[in-house]
Amino acid sequence: MRYTPFSYQERYSLRLQRLALDGGFSCPNRDGKVATGGCTFCDNRAFHPAYTAGKSITQQIEAGIAFHAQRGRKADGYLAYFQAFSNTYAPLEVLRARYEEALTHPAVRGIVIGTRPDCIDDDKLDYLAGLKRQGSIVEVEYGIESVYDATLERVNRGHTFACTKEAVEQTARKGIPVGGHIIIGLPGETREMILEEASVLNILPLSSLKIHQLQILKRTAMEAEFKEHPEDFLRLGPDQYIDLLADFLERLRPDIAIGRIVSSVPPSFTDAPWGLLKQEELLQRLEKRLEERDTFQGKLCV
Ligand code: SF4
Repeated sequence: MRYTPFSYQERYSLRLQRLALDGGFSCPNRDGKVATGGCTFCDNRAFHPAYTAGKSITQQIEAGIAFHAQRGRKADGYLAYFQAFSNTYAPLEVLRARYEEALTHPAVRGIVIGTRPDCIDDDKLDYLAGLKRQGSIVEVEYGIESVYDATLERVNRGHTFACTKEAVEQTARKGIPVGGHIIIGLPGETREMILEEASVLNILPLSSLKIHQLQILKRTAMEAEFKEHPEDFLRLGPDQYIDLLADFLERLRPDIAIGRIVSSVPPSFTDAPWGLLKQEELLQRLEKRLEERDTFQGKLCV
């Protein structure tokens, strides 16, 4: 392949299925700690599996396993994926209770924690490193979104890129695999800035990266901003996005495994055709485009 795909099978020699969970957390840019309103592009309901609603962690795991089994997906084990909101945004005792409830389920082999870089500290990371030493799979994924402070401020993230860099480095130093998440097409960012972003990400000890196109979701602050300043948005269609992604990947370190390249939400959350495009289809188009251009991930990485 011309890019490095993320694979649990390769990393752990196991067929692992992630179970997206809602641990009942919030975000510091929602509850007033650093801001209110949350990130301007975010409507977390768009990413919540229906099976999580109103259930305990254990019930969500059971429902998630049944959800995947009904779709014929086989697994050697499951990873409890704390996905909704910021999953380290609580005191350590609370985190311990939620994570360990998941880890006591006999089918769960580990936890994957999605969070913000300003919601982590040494004590939490030491605790996570301890879980890993005891044999659980532990991974942390940070919402990076952009390496540009002006963008982070504009989308109401409530933290800087320096904060991201520190969190990613601190986590990697503890021996925990670190993933990142970025959005391509945030307002004010040009094509050149997006390509330069790859070089900035290359200096971080990331083991994986999820890349999403910007989706403008209905009833978000970003929808209002887009109506007012459409000229500030790249407004990429799928073909343009794949082209830009090929350029981006050429500049990205080849050892950073690519987890996702597209975000899909239920059609009720967006009018854009992106909502219907599937990851597998886009990955095939990306591979084909890289082949046509006779290029590959890392070709221009310095
Ligand atoms: S930190 Fe994550 S969950 Fe919270 S508002 Fe931003 S994108 Fe949404």
